[in-house]
Amino acid sequence: MPESGRIQVTISSTAEKVVYLVVFHLSFVMFVWSYWKTIFTSPASPSKEFCLSKADKEQYEKEERPESQQEILRRAAKDLPIYTTTASRAIRYCDRCQLIKPDRCHHCSACDICVLKMDHHCPWVNNCVGFSNYKFFLLFLMYSLLYCLFVAATVLQYFIKFWTNELPDTHAKFHVLFLFFVAAMFFISILSLFSYHCWLVGKNRSTIETFRAPTFRNGPDKNGFSLGCSKNLREVFGDEKKYWLLPIFTSLGDGCNFPTRLVIMDPEQLTVSSQNEPAKSSVSSQPFPTRPLSESQNRLLASDCQWVESGSEEENVKSGLCNTFCA
Ligand SMILES: [Zn+2]
Ligand SMILES: [Zn+2]
Repeated sequence: MPESGRIQVTISSTAEKVVYLVVFHLSFVMFVWSYWKTIFTSPASPSKEFCLSKADKEQYEKEERPESQQEILRRAAKDLPIYTTTASRAIRYCDRCQLIKPDRCHHCSACDICVLKMDHHCPWVNNCVGFSNYKFFLLFLMYSLLYCLFVAATVLQYFIKFWTNELPDTHAKFHVLFLFFVAAMFFISILSLFSYHCWLVGKNRSTIETFRAPTFRNGPDKNGFSLGCSKNLREVFGDEKKYWLLPIFTSLGDGCNFPTRLVIMDPEQLTVSSQNEPAKSSVSSQPFPTRPLSESQNRLLASDCQWVESGSEEENVKSGLCNTFCA
């Protein structure tokens, strides 16, 4: 310990010093970069095709009966890629933005706009976390975790010395305590949040969908957008692994149109399915507009059907899935 009261970090070799500096600067740069992108990426809003035409809007505003309003919305949504409704089976419409909400889109009261694949409004970044910046948010959590771990790990040896009364009684003690506790506290809290979001990515769910499952043709299904862990991961991080760890937008899709695993099976088909024969998907006329997703509409559907998980939660639609997605 020098006389000035400072604690010298002991790095024995040049190689160790280089590794120390590279890890420190890299984690810090990536942390700042991903944080910056999370904060300053504007939340994506639905495209114009989800807005009502002027005539429809006037008619909608004139109508007082909810059934007639729904009829107008249903007609307007006929050619839109919408597969979810409200819990009461109505077309999801935002009165504030005056548009039909795409699947997974929600109105944020803090931003006062409809946000595509909205996850939550984050006060820590003062921005909505949704389709446009979800990857950046995940990377921000990961790099802050790494940074906290790095700080805690480098201070640990001095914290142990403090604990065993081997540190001299100077103000440097306070620095050691402060650094260690702040790094450890942030590490634990970010770890829980990051683990939760990793689980959400694996399940292809947003935070909102965890609390309120989206309603499909055959009822609410919290796993309705899940395509299997690997496909779910690619939906957020993209196809090219070399970009996964960089805060560059590589998420798949347009934020309005998401492949679903759901198929409609009528009772007769369910009987056939129970006899170990493949069930075929059918299309119901109400209340959903019908425009089945195809390979040309979403490249997540372009490959074979080996991604279908064999877990129990997906078994009931497994055969139908392959028929729908791989036709
Ligand atoms: Zn809105
Ligand atoms: Zn918001």
